[in-house]
Formats: sequence, C-alpha cells, structure tokens
Amino acid sequence: MLKTTRTYRAKIVNHTQVSDDLDDCGHSASKLWNVARYHTQKEWNETGEIPSEAGLKRELKDHERYSDLHSQSSQRVLEELAEAFNGWFKKRKNGDTDANPPGYRKRGDNHPRSTVIWKQMGIKHDSKHNQLRLSKGFNLKNHRSDFILAEYETRPDVTVENIQQVRAVWNGDRWELHLVCKVEIPVEDAPGDNTAGIDLGIKNYLAIAYDDGDAELYPGNVLKQDKHYFTRDEYNTEGENGPSKRALRARQKLSRRKNHFLHALAKHIVERCIDHEVGRIAIGDLSKIREEENGDARNWGKRGNKKLHGWEFDRFTTLLEYKAEEHGILVDRKSERDTSKTCSCCGRKRDANRVERGLYVCASCGATMNADVNGAVNIRRKITQNPPTGDMSNGRLARPVAYLFNQTSGRFAPSEQAGCEP
Ligand SMILES: [Zn+2]
Repeated sequence: MLKTTRTYRAKIVNHTQVSDDLDDCGHSASKLWNVARYHTQKEWNETGEIPSEAGLKRELKDHERYSDLHSQSSQRVLEELAEAFNGWFKKRKNGDTDANPPGYRKRGDNHPRSTVIWKQMGIKHDSKHNQLRLSKGFNLKNHRSDFILAEYETRPDVTVENIQQVRAVWNGDRWELHLVCKVEIPVEDAPGDNTAGIDLGIKNYLAIAYDDGDAELYPGNVLKQDKHYFTRDEYNTEGENGPSKRALRARQKLSRRKNHFLHALAKHIVERCIDHEVGRIAIGDLSKIREEENGDARNWGKRGNKKLHGWEFDRFTTLLEYKAEEHGILVDRKSERDTSKTCSCCGRKRDANRVERGLYVCASCGATMNADVNGAVNIRRKITQNPPTGDMSNGRLARPVAYLFNQTSGRFAPSEQAGCEP
C-alpha cells in the first residue's frame, strides 16, 4: 500500500446559502494576516529578528481577530505568514537584497478574500449527503448557526473520504472547495518487464508502440468533432459583459467532455499495457521542447503546435502516471529530442528522410511507417536497449491499429477501416 494525499476540487452546490459566511471567513483571514504582518514588522524593527511561528501564535492567540475563525484555521494563517517571512529572512541572510517580505492583504480599504483552511477538528463530513460542516470562530457565530453547511459536488469517479483539510478558495467569481484526502493506493507487482513508448500529438492524440512491434493510434476523433461543434461562431460571440451564458455553457460542456476523454484514454492505455505485460512506459516530455527544438525551422511548426497543447498533454501524463502506478507500472518522462527525425528501423537520422501525409519515409533503408508510431518507437528506445523484435516489413508500423472513442459507451474500440490516415 502506498499512502499519500490527493486533492479533489469540489463545486459548492448551495453557493448562495453559504457565500456570505465564506466571504466573512475570507475577509477575516486577510485581517488576521495583516495583524500578524504588523506584529512581525514591529518586532523586526525593535529587535532585528522576526518572531518564530510558535512565538507568533503565543502572542496573537488572544487577539480579537484570532477568534473570527476556528482556532486551527487561525493557526494556519499564522503558519503561512511565518513560512513566508522565514523564506524571505533566509534569502536576505544569503545576501539576496532584492527579496521582498510578504505584503499586507489589502486593496484600498477592502480586504481580499483569502483562502481559508479548515483542519480536522473544524470539519464534520457527511459522506452520504455530500455535506461538510465547517466551524466558524467565536466572533462569527450568530443566531443563524455556529458553522457553515456546504453541499458539494465532485467528479463522479472521486470518492471523498479521510478528509485531512478543506480549503475554501475564491476563484474570482465564486468559492470552491479543495478537499485534501488521505488515500491508500494498492500497489501491485508490475505486469511484466516489457516497455512501451508514447508519442502525444496533434494529428493523432496518442501513438503507442510496444516491444513486440505492435502499435496503436488514438486519433482523438471525439475531441476534434467536439471542438469543431462547440467553437462555432454562435458560441463565441462576446458581448460587453464577456461571453454569453450560452457560450459559457458550451465551453463548460466542451471541457467536461474533454476531461471524460482524457480519463477514459489513460485507463484504456493502462489496460493495454497490462495486456502487453508492460512494466515501464516512456512518454515524451513536452516541457523540454522549446529549448531543444528552438532554431530548428524544419520541426518548429510541429513542435510549436505541440507546445500550445503542452498544459493538456501534461494533464494527460499526470493522469496516466496515477493510473499506471496503481498497477505497478512506471511512467518515465523522456525528452523528445530527435524522436521525430530518426528512423526507428535503421536508426539513421537524415535530412532526406521525410514525412508525407502522415507517413515517415526513410531514404536509407526504405522503411515506410506511420510518422507518429515512428516517434513512439524512438521514445520507447530511450528506456530500453532491446532491438525491435517485431517484423518491420509486415506493415504493422505503416498501418497500425486505430482505436476510436465511443462517447456513449465511454470505451475505445479498434476501427475496422484502420489505416495510416485515420
Ligand atoms: Zn531507415
């Protein structure tokens, strides 16, 4: 068993009922921060030292503002300030004269809504009804209630239990909850010693190559159709007050469907890897592209496009890591350097090698392969010394199996008319 924490984002269903109370807490957290900020400055001016975290708590626990929040929530504000001051103090000691101490949380006469954190003693969780009771401090208790009763909603595949911390975060528009949960992940033995390589891309969302020469393509058909549909002009007109409600709903729907696709794809890939007895997956690390490919005009277009999708590829890679680790499979992020230019059959990298209509054609050995699969094979090679064992001439690399996503079943199925040009 692997013990760790996971943070789940939750929407507050009864937002109108609790937003005033959360506002009060958020403003109070800012006020307490400022009190502590002032106190620290004073001690710094008088002694040349900053108070310790324990000193700050001792000094301020009887302060009026301390009792606005649950004691653990107030403690958390002081801890945060002490951490920020200590970080600054260390930098200063090391000669960094540009470092600034943490500031006050004020905008004119207003206090911004700070994140409010509840720890276990301030939380009661009713998992049956998806409700959280969050304690208020003495000063904010009133005839209405001593606590905030928030109804929440998470992604359907998330089980909320063993909550360690609840954070109320103002996202600029409304409050949302971040639930930090303790989880135990059963770690299985790896399904085998084989390896797989994954290339993420635009044309095909994902290409995967296994030791035995098998290769699969995932064109991301649904993503393209969705994007085409939901980004039509009628959903994108922005009035004076920003995008219309209809446009916002369309965007939300698009992002929900994309989420669904990414989760289903990560799960499916892990299942395929179990079938192929894979113990280790190499996947292209998109974060390194810019430095490495800069100045190389030949590949800049493709790589530049990939960079635009970087955040999304990163999200997918993280999902894959989560799901793979539960089955004892390691995911290794590897640089994509040269992986699209090198021939995976003969290993030669020549300018004469070219990509035509999705096919990589090698001028040295004559191999013709799906370009994305060629990339996936090259990425796989970065974590293994094994030469390819599959028969490269049988066309499997030129015509890999294409898996299409079925939105209704939420599953991937091999396409009958699979080809190099899905
Ligand atoms: Zn070749």
